[in-house]
Amino acid sequence: MAEKVDYLIIGNGISGLSAAREIRKNDESGSITMVSSEPYLTYYRVKLTECISKNFSKEEFLVNKEDWYKENSIDVILSKIVEKVDFDNNLVKLDDGVLIKYRKLLLAMGSRPFIPPIAGKFKKGVFALRTLRDLRYIQDYFLSCKKVTVIGGGLLGLEAAWSIKQLNKEVNIINRSSYLLSKQLDEELSRKLEKKLKNLGFNIYLDSSAEEILGENTVNGVKLSGKEIVETNGVLISSGIRSNLDLVRETKLNFDKGIIVDKHLKTNLPNVYAAGDVAEVEGVVLGLWTAGNEQGKIVGSNMTGDNKEYTTPKPYTSLEIGDIKLFSAGNVKKSDKIYEYKEGEDIHHKLFTTNGTITGGILFGDIKEMFKLRKAILDQTQVSDYLKDTDIEFK
Ligand SMILES: Cc1cc2nc3c(=O)[nH]c(=O)nc-3n(C[C@H](O)[C@H](O)[C@H](O)COP(=O)(O)OP(=O)(O)OC[C@H]3O[C@@H](n4cnc5c(N)ncnc54)[C@H](O)[C@@H]3O)c2cc1C
Repeated sequence: MAEKVDYLIIGNGISGLSAAREIRKNDESGSITMVSSEPYLTYYRVKLTECISKNFSKEEFLVNKEDWYKENSIDVILSKIVEKVDFDNNLVKLDDGVLIKYRKLLLAMGSRPFIPPIAGKFKKGVFALRTLRDLRYIQDYFLSCKKVTVIGGGLLGLEAAWSIKQLNKEVNIINRSSYLLSKQLDEELSRKLEKKLKNLGFNIYLDSSAEEILGENTVNGVKLSGKEIVETNGVLISSGIRSNLDLVRETKLNFDKGIIVDKHLKTNLPNVYAAGDVAEVEGVVLGLWTAGNEQGKIVGSNMTGDNKEYTTPKPYTSLEIGDIKLFSAGNVKKSDKIYEYKEGEDIHHKLFTTNGTITGGILFGDIKEMFKLRKAILDQTQVSDYLKDTDIEFK
């Protein structure tokens, strides 16, 4: 016999949780069940990186305490995998054989780390960070390492490298492109970042990809595409994400990089919605905490009968590593004029403009103006107006 629920949510990441919260706001009595393969209530996944080098308790991580779920009559089934969804009969099957019949279904299964096809990637000492459980293994293992290598020099890779450095390890960063953060920075500012990171003691390998993880059973080195060998005792792979699509592959649900949803976050099947890292909106899987939170709100509301639209946010980046601070937003690759401000070696800002409008910007060294700059880019502000309104003397 199948248990019956009004709202079933697969996944209890931030998108699943914020949907549950919104459903409860709009529907006081409908039954809500969340199922998660992880053993924890929803936690701040975004805190995992900084916690590589910190002691932490599980409680510090939780978004809501256990009482909140009771007070809001939200059932959470932990440590259970949804094995099958029968979309024709509104039925899911858990890995212990339990059947649940739903009225409305939210697919919020999130994503997992993308592990490139590197020879030797299954050797002991090679990790990727996605869950609290991963964090505990990584912390344990890296403690006894002298040298650790991070494969992937994107934002998360750099933040992880910094966190590992706090454990007094020698840290190598392997980056595929010829300069760091090549999407967010121009080459000049990226070189400044690189110099600062080198001064902090990082070994940086640019234009390089990991070809092979070396060592008998346990990693002791990484062979790079240029054949150079980087000695290491541990590896953290930070090469992006892939949506968790296994559950829907052999079904009628439309998916590509993620589950394809319309602007109301509805899939192609009736009463089935998707949000967060598993959802593809306008051809993009955003893979961001803030996006998962916002999509959860919209989808939760729509599952109770609203018809709200999700607007894809304009991305921006901020990074703080020790005293290195930078912010980037908009298009920093194409412009017809660049305005700059420099203060010594440490501060360097750039405004990228097209036809007199601010289309992108980078703040390097001092990010106090980041909200103002972001707003100017979003509002397509005329550069002349922006310059009148800022204390920074751009030239
Ligand atoms: C280390 C790290 C640092 C990050 N830092 C940032 C940051 O600084 N800023 C930012 O914006 N974003 C950051 N992110 C990304 C952000 O955490 C994610 O975008 C967000 O957590 C996605 O939420 P979600 O609800 O879509 O999915 P998830 O949080 O992935 O949750 C999905 C849940 O569903 C479960 N699940 C999957 N399949 C099944 C199944 N079949 N049955 C049952 N349960 C299932 C999963 O186990 C998981 O618990 C970071 C991510 C990581 C890993």
